[in-house]
Amino acid sequence: MTTRIRTAESRAGRSPGSVTLIAVSKVQPDDRVRAVLDAGHRAFGENYVQEAQGKWPVWRAQYPGVSLHMIGPLQSNKARVAAGLFDAIHTLDRMSLARKLAGLAADGVVLPDLFVQVNTGDEPQKAGVLADELPGFLSACADLGLSPQGLMCIPPEAGDPIPHFRLLRSLAADHGLPQLSMGMSADFEAAIAEGATHVRVGSAIFGARDYG
Ligand SMILES: *Cc1c(COP(=O)(O)O)cnc(C)c1O
Repeated sequence: MTTRIRTAESRAGRSPGSVTLIAVSKVQPDDRVRAVLDAGHRAFGENYVQEAQGKWPVWRAQYPGVSLHMIGPLQSNKARVAAGLFDAIHTLDRMSLARKLAGLAADGVVLPDLFVQVNTGDEPQKAGVLADELPGFLSACADLGLSPQGLMCIPPEAGDPIPHFRLLRSLAADHGLPQLSMGMSADFEAAIAEGATHVRVGSAIFGARDYG
């Protein structure tokens, strides 16, 4: 996997190591995750606060240097726990969550790095701020004292993801945001070519997820 990342970086004229590979370990059996930790990988992504809370405190203690990324929808009532558990939240997708996070910061909680999730495909069932609404959302975040470092998207399942990666990149450039969380198992190389700084790769590292 690292070789594929390095090749994609070099093809895109990006420096080696400029892309963070987030190994998405949600729902994966512990032995598969441990194998990746033992191999030296340290950046992981989880979708569910409760699942992450159940396994990562122990692994963090055993494997120094882990960085943990929240990539799933975050309920406001889990924001405090998430802020303590994760180094980055990629799914800041609505004002109520922004207000909740700002309130935690006011209480002295050190917030993780924040990415705003953008619903680039305008999909009604999908979370995320619409592209049209992003400027207003970001300025409201700034008013609350939040300073997101980047944008995140999950392109529609069908169709070409590249226009979505390009849209995300141009939105980030418009707002001077340096980080781009985009690209999954099926399309992370294309995402790197379009400027991803963080790719979220699950099944291509761990094998298929078994939700049974
Ligand atoms: C599960 C998940 C991934 C990883 O998906 P794969 O196709 O297994 O690489 C990436 N991003 C998000 C937001 C996810 O929920």
